[in-house]
Amino acid sequence: MVRKKTTAKKTVKKSTKKQIKKITAKKPVAVKKVITKKPVIQKDEEQLVLQTVRGMRDILPGDQAYWQQVRKVFEKRSIEYGFSRIDTPIIEFENIFTRPIGTGTDIVDKEMYSFRTKGGDNVALRPEMTASIARSYIQHGMMILPKPIKLFSMGPAYRYDRPQEGRYREFYQAEFDIFGEEDPILDAQIMQIAYRVLKDLGIKNIQFSVNSIGTVESRQEYLKLLKVYFRSKKNKLPSRYKEMISTNPLRIFDAKDDKCIQVCAGAPQSIDHLDKESREHFKNLLEYLDELDLPYTIDPQLVRGLDYYTRTVFEVYANDEFGKKRSLGGGGRFDGLIELFGGEPTPAIGFAFGVDRLIMEMKRVKAKKYQAPQPRVFLAQLGELAKKKSLQLFADIEQSGILVAESFGRGALQKQLRHANKLGVELTLIIGQQEALDDTVIVKNMLTGTQETVARDKAIAFVRKNLKASAKLVKKK
Ligand code: AMP
Repeated sequence: MVRKKTTAKKTVKKSTKKQIKKITAKKPVAVKKVITKKPVIQKDEEQLVLQTVRGMRDILPGDQAYWQQVRKVFEKRSIEYGFSRIDTPIIEFENIFTRPIGTGTDIVDKEMYSFRTKGGDNVALRPEMTASIARSYIQHGMMILPKPIKLFSMGPAYRYDRPQEGRYREFYQAEFDIFGEEDPILDAQIMQIAYRVLKDLGIKNIQFSVNSIGTVESRQEYLKLLKVYFRSKKNKLPSRYKEMISTNPLRIFDAKDDKCIQVCAGAPQSIDHLDKESREHFKNLLEYLDELDLPYTIDPQLVRGLDYYTRTVFEVYANDEFGKKRSLGGGGRFDGLIELFGGEPTPAIGFAFGVDRLIMEMKRVKAKKYQAPQPRVFLAQLGELAKKKSLQLFADIEQSGILVAESFGRGALQKQLRHANKLGVELTLIIGQQEALDDTVIVKNMLTGTQETVARDKAIAFVRKNLKASAKLVKKK
């Protein structure tokens, strides 16, 4: 160990000195029993339930390193691919969702948090983001901007779904949308972004399912064939799907029960009934995907049951070691959505990740989480006057760009130093009672164990010099 020659002034007060002696290994922290008092409830008051509402969760500090990692990756990739961030409100007029998503869908019929405001407006918590972003696109005249217009958004969405693992009533989506281009190269690019984000997050065994459902016009002939087919199998379908045969037969493909899946397996497939342009579009997309070497399979049953989708639809999964598909996100083209809202015809493509699902998968594969920068300096204090002075010194150190930690609430210097040791800082600054009176600071080098007393106004320059030296020391080791 390199021992630094000390020039310490003899002004360190004895009691302070004693306490700065070598810090022993940290003692186990005694677990305090948490006693919660029963809240006082007035007779006519409802009981206070200190729990989140069903399907909602707190994202606690212990989990934030995963969320921060996800935010970091999204920010980096969205900027690299030329996406501008957009944030829309959580509440919109209800028909912003009902019209494009379509009645008859679970989202609209069963899962929307719709309510009337005190002012009498019919509004809803957003169950997804695409419709809100399309509304914003028109409201703010984005059509005059140079195309393609690329937007990225991330935030909560709400569906009154049956909560289970990975399915919540409040969940987070991260969405990439491109407006103004119908070239399939953008469909491929959006899938490439999805792939790169998943790779960045350390998610493995990624797989895309892709299909084309044609344009709204060209789909009409196909829908007729589908109706004929499902009618012929009507007695094999559960009653709620029978109703869909005449209203929206495509949605039967979204069914999860075995009987429906069996019936759907023999149904006519959309890719066999595409118009010429949609077929060409799909063929070109597949060529781009091959060129990019993206792992995909064509899934002729994939329709993604929202009314606004046209042509390309896709989903992205992670396959686990048991062959189970873990759905992480999905998207597709919505070439008719802006027009449906009264805007000019504007082709568009987008997709959304379920952020909660990404984090579940990151935990499952033990992917890297965000590492916050470590403080290099700790500030300890002893006595009332020192406490007052340390607040300003903390701000000065922090403003000089040096990452500093403290535990001001802890009285005993021993406890503070133990905390400094646990954080692994290189320097600890101590203002004891004497130092507070003298306007000095003790600087303890945690690597060498040496300490010096320096004038308060020289402290930051001194710390900076020492940090440089200790960085060299660590390198040498
Ligand atoms: P969708 O808008 O239904 O295509 O959903 C896009 C992605 O959001 C899905 O692939 C899921 O990862 C995620 N997602 C949808 N619904 C939920 C939910 N209730 N809880 C958690 N994640 C969800």
